[in-house]
Amino acid sequence: MKNTDLNIGPYFWINNKLIFNKCSLSEGRKQFDKIDNSYAHEKLYDDYFKVGDYIDYPRGRVVWDMTKNEAVIYIDRCINKHDILTKIIEVFNLRKYRVEYDEHYRCKNCMDWSVEDEF
Ligand SMILES: [Zn+2]
Repeated sequence: MKNTDLNIGPYFWINNKLIFNKCSLSEGRKQFDKIDNSYAHEKLYDDYFKVGDYIDYPRGRVVWDMTKNEAVIYIDRCINKHDILTKIIEVFNLRKYRVEYDEHYRCKNCMDWSVEDEF
């Protein structure tokens, strides 16, 4: 399977726009059974905005699962919507993937929800 054109990295959904940083799998960093783009959300936010705090905004991250040979789209539950996922899949050029929630990817409005609520 050719994975050379796949991308991984952090993203935000702000003002109906996808803001992201992407790199190829070969540029990523291996951590256990995953390959991750080490670019931080804080840095990505600061690349685009002069004010505000990144933790307030809906965000997620695309990583690669080496065991299952598929991408994992971590997403904030408030942006787990078909049109937004479609955009993420297109931008990162994903084919096989699964969607998961993670404690790290919760905006200000989602802080009260725990990850266990729905999965
Ligand atoms: Zn949220």
